[in-house]
Amino acid sequence: MTFDAVVIGAGIVGAACAASLSSAGLRVALIDGNGIATGTTAAGMGHIVVMDDSEAQFALTQYSQQLWKKLANEMPPSAEYERCGTIWVAADDYEMSEVHRKNEFYSERGIATEILDAQALSEAEPNLRTGLAGGLLVRSDHVVYQLTASRFLVDKARSRGAVLRTGNAVSEITNDGVRLVNGEIVNADIVINAAGINAPQLSSGIRIDKRKGHLVITGRYSNFAQHQLVELGYLRSAHGREAGSVAFNLQPRATGQMLLGSSRQFGVDNTFVDREILKRMTSRAFEYMPRLRELSAVRVWTGFRPSTPDNLPYIGISPTQPNTYIAAGHEGLGITTSLGTAELITAMITGREPAIPIEPYSPSRAIEPH
Ligand SMILES: Cc1cc2nc3c(=O)[nH]c(=O)nc-3n(C[C@H](O)[C@H](O)[C@H](O)COP(=O)(O)OP(=O)(O)OC[C@H]3O[C@@H](n4cnc5c(N)ncnc54)[C@H](O)[C@@H]3O)c2cc1C
Repeated sequence: MTFDAVVIGAGIVGAACAASLSSAGLRVALIDGNGIATGTTAAGMGHIVVMDDSEAQFALTQYSQQLWKKLANEMPPSAEYERCGTIWVAADDYEMSEVHRKNEFYSERGIATEILDAQALSEAEPNLRTGLAGGLLVRSDHVVYQLTASRFLVDKARSRGAVLRTGNAVSEITNDGVRLVNGEIVNADIVINAAGINAPQLSSGIRIDKRKGHLVITGRYSNFAQHQLVELGYLRSAHGREAGSVAFNLQPRATGQMLLGSSRQFGVDNTFVDREILKRMTSRAFEYMPRLRELSAVRVWTGFRPSTPDNLPYIGISPTQPNTYIAAGHEGLGITTSLGTAELITAMITGREPAIPIEPYSPSRAIEPH
């Protein structure tokens, strides 16, 4: 069979691309060497969050969040879409100044926020320790169960004629489509490389490093926390390039479970649970929420964030393959930004006006001299 487009990778990004391209009327093949959402997507937290590291990151996260809000009405209850909001927790006066900066940034761009003083923070989240300085509440952030969402997007693509092939990886992108490891050729005019951490193996000229992360999930407890809670020190952990960092990040799930993160490690290739990092991560969480010690953890896992040198994803034409678009390198925001990524890719392919400027995400920046 010949397709208009073949999407490599059925993680949240590839699934979103397949759904968007097939909605635009393209005949799509979606190929995954393993299965739907079995890569990094399976390891993520599902926090759909607007971020302010840069204008480009803000634009993509905000645009994507708006798309998630629309999609929420279509998804089944098992997608556990929760409008819980985020509280960025400030430990001291220094972090409180970051609360004010963040508040200004968001307010100027139309995101409703609320500054919480120490008392308001403690009323909003009584299980946080006393003595914290305050926080910033961003009500519009939310949470989704990304495994259901990925399958929902794949089903949406299939209902519009897309063909899903799993269990047979792509070994090479060719001028006419892709070759699979079993030698089979899938012909397509356009290839979308959404292979996550493996994307550089199929497309030269881009750099994606694996950034290992750990998460812990607890048993079910009612009303332990109401919001996604993130320490403001998280930003230092996410931005830093040091070998290993941890930050307090807690997500109350619809099931009553608490999903607890997070760690970041470069230069580690194994998937093992690192007890030292896990201890640092949980100790950090106990500093913020001492009563977490009373909860039982039921599972710990790891995953690899696909990290680019400038923390922005690659979305656009490959610098080395004229028939290939890259949709990869979303680091710790790929669940959030999957929908925006997919719409930008579809706009580029179909010649539509993209909803936000695409230049900051161009993969060609990876080979441009700095
Ligand atoms: C601990 C942790 C917490 C996170 N929390 C959040 C969060 O709260 N919010 C958020 O927005 N993001 C979060 N993320 C980030 C998010 O999970 C990722 O950015 C996102 O899942 C990346 O999706 P992807 O589709 O690009 O990659 P993947 O999910 O890895 O999908 C790539 C797919 O490609 C397939 N593949 C690879 N090579 C080939 C090949 N040669 N042929 C065919 N198929 C191939 C793989 O099997 C895989 O299924 C978190 C990540 C981690 C690790």
